[in-house]
Amino acid sequence: MTLAIDGGSPVRTAPWPSWPPPLDDAQRELVTAVLESGRWGATQGGSACADLVAAFARRSGVEHGVAVGNATLGLFAALRGLGVGPGDEVIVPAYTFVATATAVLLTGATPVIVDVDATDLHLSPAAVEAALTPRTTAIVPVHLAGSPADMDPLNAIAARHGLTVVEDAAQAHGAAYRGRPVGGLGDAGVYSFQSSKAMTAGEGGLVVCRSREVHEAVWSVCNVGRALDGAWYGHPHVGWNLRLTEIQAALLLPWLDRLDDEIDRRNAFAAAAERELAGHDLVTVVPQPPGTTRDSRHLLMLRVHAPFDRSFLLAAMAAEGVPLDGGYPPLGTMSALTEAGVRTEPCPSAEAAAREVVWVRQAMLMDDCGGAAHLAEALTKVLHGVGRR
Ligand SMILES: *Cc1c(COP(=O)(O)O)cnc(C)c1O
Repeated sequence: MTLAIDGGSPVRTAPWPSWPPPLDDAQRELVTAVLESGRWGATQGGSACADLVAAFARRSGVEHGVAVGNATLGLFAALRGLGVGPGDEVIVPAYTFVATATAVLLTGATPVIVDVDATDLHLSPAAVEAALTPRTTAIVPVHLAGSPADMDPLNAIAARHGLTVVEDAAQAHGAAYRGRPVGGLGDAGVYSFQSSKAMTAGEGGLVVCRSREVHEAVWSVCNVGRALDGAWYGHPHVGWNLRLTEIQAALLLPWLDRLDDEIDRRNAFAAAAERELAGHDLVTVVPQPPGTTRDSRHLLMLRVHAPFDRSFLLAAMAAEGVPLDGGYPPLGTMSALTEAGVRTEPCPSAEAAAREVVWVRQAMLMDDCGGAAHLAEALTKVLHGVGRR
């Protein structure tokens, strides 16, 4: 069978769903109401941001939260609000989006890059334990691809050593660990509404907070150092304006009513892909960490067990009409971090993931037109084609 990249016919010609999904009526109505009210900012008495925060806190199993401009600033605000600053070391996984680590740099603390589990690619509790020093003050587990990090052992390490835990839930709206929603499992949890995420307003973020004290501190960081009940021009702390707008919140609030259906749909795709690829000699689905009870399936991660030219694989799959993403390079290899003076140790599991793991993106996982079968068929065609070259 001739590969599409060599002039053969592609496996799939139908388009994949686009992201974001089309605007729904509830979004149109609420956005219009906010626009017509003139209350576009969150300090003008509108309720969209407050309602969004309340809904996210409730869904995360906590009482408090703060809406912010994006998740990078949310991670910064959570860490700073929890007292992380210069001289501190903060543990982050080696296989994640760069912002997990650069948010630590914003606080003045040093990110310590720790390898991930060889199979599930989430922060490895054993590697965390080995990286602790007297300067370690916080851990940032990432709920990668929508599946929760194995939080119980990480929280146990944190409790033993008096560390703060900030969950990077930027990819995991609606996910759950041992029946408990993510975001409420650490001291604070941070969601992203950037345009690639499971809920989006183009940009945006939200921090949920375990306690009233954490909420007051994080709120102050995001509200120019004000105190929650203090005077408007009294600024007891150093802080910044990191707020989300009411217009963004109006796009997001109605989305909560359909988030669970969208997650079900992506899980159905993942289950179908798992069936299609069962017994495949060259490809396996990256498994979830122990304790995953609800995977929000931001991405479906696949490991390819064949020596192949990676850029050729990605180009050949795109030509077959099934585009895949090559995923993250290991954090420690990025000059963004080495230039910032971050010490880097070898991270063999993240390095293997950078060579072997590819992603099916969220929009494709929303497909219900045989997408999983197309994925499996194109992978088989291309990998066996590559093997023959
Ligand atoms: C997207 C993302 C972020 C950053 O979110 P922004 O809203 O773009 O700042 C942080 N961590 C992870 C794991 C992400 O995927």
